[in-house]
Amino acid sequence: MPDSAGRRSWDSLESISSEVRVCTRCSLSETRINAVPGEGSPVASVMFIGEGPGSQEDQQGRPFVGRAGKLLDNLLSAVPIERRDVYITNIVKCRPPNNRDPQPVEVEACGPFLDAQIELINPRVIATLGRHSLVHFFPNAKISRDHGRIMRWRNRILLPLYHPAAALRSSRVMQATASDFERIPEALLAALSPKRTAGRVGESQSSYEPAVEGASGASPETDSGERQQSMF
Ligand code: SF4
Repeated sequence: MPDSAGRRSWDSLESISSEVRVCTRCSLSETRINAVPGEGSPVASVMFIGEGPGSQEDQQGRPFVGRAGKLLDNLLSAVPIERRDVYITNIVKCRPPNNRDPQPVEVEACGPFLDAQIELINPRVIATLGRHSLVHFFPNAKISRDHGRIMRWRNRILLPLYHPAAALRSSRVMQATASDFERIPEALLAALSPKRTAGRVGESQSSYEPAVEGASGASPETDSGERQQSMF
Protein backbone atom coordinates (compact mmCIF):
# COMPACT_ATOMS: atom_id res chain seq x y z
CA MET A 1 0.00 0.00 0.00
CA PRO A 2 1.23 3.57 -0.66
CA ASP A 3 2.31 5.54 2.42
CA SER A 4 1.16 9.10 3.19
CA ALA A 5 3.75 10.46 0.73
CA GLY A 6 2.47 8.18 -2.00
CA ARG A 7 5.46 5.81 -1.81
CA ARG A 8 4.91 2.10 -2.04
CA SER A 9 6.18 -0.22 0.64
CA TRP A 10 6.46 -3.97 0.69
CA ASP A 11 6.73 -6.32 3.63
CA SER A 12 8.66 -9.12 1.92
CA LEU A 13 11.03 -9.80 -0.95
CA GLU A 14 8.41 -12.11 -2.42
CA SER A 15 5.88 -9.31 -2.61
CA ILE A 16 8.43 -7.09 -4.36
CA SER A 17 9.24 -9.85 -6.84
CA SER A 18 5.57 -10.48 -7.54
CA GLU A 19 5.00 -6.83 -8.35
CA VAL A 20 8.18 -6.57 -10.45
CA ARG A 21 7.06 -9.49 -12.61
CA VAL A 22 3.90 -7.68 -13.70
CA CYS A 23 5.27 -4.13 -13.51
CA THR A 24 4.50 -1.69 -16.32
CA ARG A 25 5.97 1.43 -14.72
CA CYS A 26 8.34 2.06 -17.59
CA SER A 27 8.63 1.18 -21.27
CA LEU A 28 11.07 -1.66 -20.63
CA SER A 29 8.00 -3.71 -19.76
CA GLU A 30 7.01 -3.59 -23.44
CA THR A 31 10.13 -5.35 -24.71
CA ARG A 32 11.04 -7.73 -21.90
CA ILE A 33 10.34 -11.46 -21.94
CA ASN A 34 10.65 -11.79 -18.18
CA ALA A 35 11.31 -9.24 -15.48
CA VAL A 36 14.24 -10.21 -13.25
CA PRO A 37 13.52 -9.19 -9.65
CA GLY A 38 16.63 -10.71 -8.09
CA GLU A 39 17.43 -13.78 -6.04
CA GLY A 40 19.45 -14.99 -3.11
CA SER A 41 19.48 -14.96 0.65
CA PRO A 42 16.91 -12.67 2.30
CA VAL A 43 19.44 -12.07 5.09
CA ALA A 44 22.51 -11.64 2.90
CA SER A 45 25.45 -9.70 4.28
CA VAL A 46 26.54 -8.85 0.76
CA MET A 47 24.18 -7.60 -1.93
CA PHE A 48 25.42 -7.44 -5.53
CA ILE A 49 23.72 -4.89 -7.73
CA GLY A 50 24.27 -4.96 -11.48
CA GLU A 51 22.96 -2.63 -14.13
CA GLY A 52 20.17 -4.56 -15.84
CA PRO A 53 19.30 -8.02 -17.14
CA GLY A 54 20.89 -9.29 -20.35
CA SER A 55 19.51 -11.68 -22.92
CA GLN A 56 19.89 -14.89 -20.90
CA GLU A 57 18.49 -13.24 -17.80
CA ASP A 58 15.54 -11.90 -19.78
CA GLN A 59 14.78 -15.40 -21.05
CA GLN A 60 15.12 -17.11 -17.67
CA GLY A 61 13.90 -14.40 -15.31
CA ARG A 62 16.99 -14.84 -13.13
CA PRO A 63 19.95 -12.50 -12.59
CA PHE A 64 23.47 -13.23 -13.84
CA VAL A 65 22.90 -16.59 -15.52
CA GLY A 66 24.82 -15.98 -18.76
CA ARG A 67 28.59 -15.89 -19.30
CA ALA A 68 28.94 -12.93 -16.96
CA GLY A 69 26.94 -14.86 -14.38
CA LYS A 70 29.27 -17.85 -14.63
CA LEU A 71 32.22 -15.52 -14.08
CA LEU A 72 30.46 -13.99 -11.09
CA ASP A 73 30.01 -17.48 -9.65
CA ASN A 74 33.72 -18.19 -10.14
CA LEU A 75 34.75 -14.89 -8.56
CA LEU A 76 32.52 -15.63 -5.57
CA SER A 77 33.99 -19.12 -5.23
CA ALA A 78 37.47 -17.66 -5.04
CA VAL A 79 36.61 -15.43 -2.03
CA PRO A 80 35.06 -17.95 -1.07
CA ILE A 81 31.35 -17.14 -0.88
CA GLU A 82 28.43 -19.32 -1.87
CA ARG A 83 26.10 -17.68 -4.35
CA ARG A 84 23.10 -18.77 -2.28
CA ASP A 85 24.41 -16.71 0.65
CA VAL A 86 24.39 -13.38 -1.18
CA TYR A 87 21.59 -11.46 -2.89
CA ILE A 88 21.92 -10.50 -6.55
CA THR A 89 19.78 -7.97 -8.37
CA ASN A 90 20.00 -5.07 -10.81
CA ILE A 91 19.28 -1.35 -10.91
CA VAL A 92 16.55 -1.95 -13.51
CA LYS A 93 14.69 -5.22 -13.41
CA CYS A 94 13.85 -5.50 -17.10
CA ARG A 95 16.26 -5.85 -20.02
CA PRO A 96 17.01 -2.66 -21.95
CA PRO A 97 16.65 -3.49 -25.68
CA ASN A 98 19.92 -4.53 -27.30
CA ASN A 99 21.63 -4.17 -23.92
CA ARG A 100 21.62 -0.38 -24.19
CA ASP A 101 22.27 1.68 -21.08
CA PRO A 102 19.29 2.09 -18.76
CA GLN A 103 17.77 5.55 -19.17
CA PRO A 104 17.35 7.86 -16.18
CA VAL A 105 13.57 7.68 -16.38
CA GLU A 106 13.77 3.87 -16.21
CA VAL A 107 16.20 3.92 -13.29
CA GLU A 108 13.92 6.30 -11.45
CA ALA A 109 10.81 4.23 -12.15
CA CYS A 110 12.52 1.07 -10.90
CA GLY A 111 14.16 2.73 -7.92
CA PRO A 112 11.48 1.97 -5.34
CA PHE A 113 11.94 -1.77 -5.90
CA LEU A 114 15.69 -1.57 -5.29
CA ASP A 115 15.27 0.72 -2.29
CA ALA A 116 12.82 -1.72 -0.74
CA GLN A 117 15.08 -4.71 -1.43
CA ILE A 118 18.00 -2.96 0.29
CA GLU A 119 15.84 -2.01 3.24
CA LEU A 120 14.43 -5.53 3.70
CA ILE A 121 17.69 -7.41 3.21
CA ASN A 122 19.69 -4.82 5.17
CA PRO A 123 23.09 -5.94 3.79
CA ARG A 124 26.30 -4.85 5.45
CA VAL A 125 27.98 -4.47 2.10
CA ILE A 126 26.58 -3.35 -1.23
CA ALA A 127 28.82 -4.48 -4.08
CA THR A 128 28.01 -2.55 -7.23
CA LEU A 129 28.73 -4.24 -10.55
CA GLY A 130 29.58 -1.78 -13.28
CA ARG A 131 29.48 1.95 -13.87
CA HIS A 132 25.72 2.47 -13.90
CA SER A 133 25.26 0.72 -10.61
CA LEU A 134 28.07 2.72 -8.99
CA VAL A 135 26.82 6.13 -10.15
CA HIS A 136 23.34 5.27 -8.90
CA PHE A 137 24.84 5.55 -5.40
CA PHE A 138 27.66 8.04 -6.07
CA PRO A 139 26.85 10.17 -9.12
CA ASN A 140 30.37 11.62 -9.30
CA ALA A 141 32.22 8.33 -8.93
CA LYS A 142 34.22 6.74 -11.74
CA ILE A 143 34.48 3.00 -12.02
CA SER A 144 37.98 3.17 -13.53
CA ARG A 145 39.19 5.18 -10.52
CA ASP A 146 37.04 3.87 -7.70
CA HIS A 147 36.78 0.13 -8.33
CA GLY A 148 37.95 -1.83 -5.31
CA ARG A 149 37.68 1.13 -2.92
CA ILE A 150 35.85 0.53 0.30
CA MET A 151 33.39 3.39 0.69
CA ARG A 152 30.63 4.32 3.07
CA TRP A 153 27.12 4.88 1.79
CA ARG A 154 24.58 5.86 4.42
CA ASN A 155 25.04 3.23 7.13
CA ARG A 156 26.58 0.61 4.88
CA ILE A 157 29.80 -0.20 3.13
CA LEU A 158 29.82 0.06 -0.63
CA LEU A 159 32.40 -1.77 -2.71
CA PRO A 160 32.49 -0.77 -6.39
CA LEU A 161 33.36 -3.64 -8.72
CA TYR A 162 33.66 -3.83 -12.48
CA HIS A 163 30.80 -5.58 -14.21
CA PRO A 164 31.80 -9.20 -14.96
CA ALA A 165 30.89 -8.61 -18.62
CA ALA A 166 33.61 -5.94 -18.76
CA ALA A 167 36.06 -8.39 -17.21
CA LEU A 168 35.25 -10.89 -19.96
CA ARG A 169 36.28 -8.30 -22.55
CA SER A 170 39.62 -7.27 -21.04
CA SER A 171 42.34 -9.23 -19.28
CA ARG A 172 43.35 -6.05 -17.43
CA VAL A 173 39.83 -5.61 -16.08
CA MET A 174 39.64 -9.33 -15.28
CA GLN A 175 42.78 -9.08 -13.16
CA ALA A 176 41.51 -5.97 -11.37
CA THR A 177 38.12 -7.56 -10.76
CA ALA A 178 39.61 -10.69 -9.25
CA SER A 179 41.71 -8.53 -6.95
CA ASP A 180 38.72 -6.34 -6.00
CA PHE A 181 36.60 -9.38 -5.09
CA GLU A 182 39.30 -10.36 -2.64
CA ARG A 183 38.46 -7.19 -0.70
CA ILE A 184 34.96 -8.40 0.18
CA PRO A 185 36.03 -9.86 3.57
CA GLU A 186 37.75 -6.56 4.39
CA ALA A 187 34.62 -4.67 3.38
CA LEU A 188 32.57 -6.85 5.71
CA LEU A 189 34.94 -6.10 8.56
CA ALA A 190 34.82 -2.38 7.77
CA ALA A 191 31.04 -2.63 8.05
CA LEU A 192 31.43 -3.70 11.67
CA SER A 193 33.35 -0.56 12.64
CA PRO A 194 31.46 2.10 14.65
CA LYS A 195 31.26 4.38 11.61
CA ARG A 196 28.72 1.98 10.16
CA THR A 197 26.08 3.49 12.39
CA ALA A 198 27.16 7.08 11.87
CA GLY A 199 24.72 7.63 9.02
CA ARG A 200 21.02 6.94 8.77
CA VAL A 201 19.08 5.22 6.06
CA GLY A 202 17.27 7.91 4.15
CA GLU A 203 20.08 10.46 4.31
CA SER A 204 21.21 12.27 1.22
CA GLN A 205 23.26 10.17 -1.18
CA SER A 206 25.92 12.85 -1.22
CA SER A 207 27.76 11.39 1.79
CA TYR A 208 30.69 10.32 -0.34
CA GLU A 209 33.67 9.52 1.83
CA PRO A 210 37.19 8.50 0.96
CA ALA A 211 38.03 4.86 0.89
CA VAL A 212 38.43 3.15 4.23
CA GLU A 213 41.78 1.61 3.57
CA GLY A 214 43.06 -1.08 5.90
CA ALA A 215 40.02 -0.71 8.12
CA SER A 216 40.00 -4.29 9.26
CA GLY A 217 43.34 -4.39 11.03
CA ALA A 218 43.01 -8.15 10.92
CA SER A 219 45.06 -10.73 9.15
CA PRO A 220 43.09 -12.63 6.52
CA GLU A 221 45.41 -15.55 7.05
CA THR A 222 44.57 -15.92 10.72
CA ASP A 223 40.82 -15.57 10.83
CA SER A 224 39.49 -16.30 7.37
CA GLY A 225 37.80 -19.61 8.13
CA GLU A 226 35.86 -18.33 11.10
CA ARG A 227 34.98 -15.10 9.37
CA GLN A 228 33.57 -16.81 6.32
CA GLN A 229 31.15 -18.77 8.44
CA SER A 230 30.05 -15.91 10.59
CA MET A 231 29.89 -13.16 8.02
CA PHE A 232 28.48 -14.61 4.84
S1 SF4 B 1 12.40 -1.85 -15.42
FE1 SF4 B 1 11.50 -1.72 -13.36
S2 SF4 B 1 10.05 -0.01 -13.51
FE2 SF4 B 1 10.50 -0.65 -15.61
S3 SF4 B 1 8.88 -2.14 -16.11
FE3 SF4 B 1 10.66 -3.29 -15.33
S4 SF4 B 1 10.24 -3.56 -13.14
FE4 SF4 B 1 8.90 -1.92 -13.89
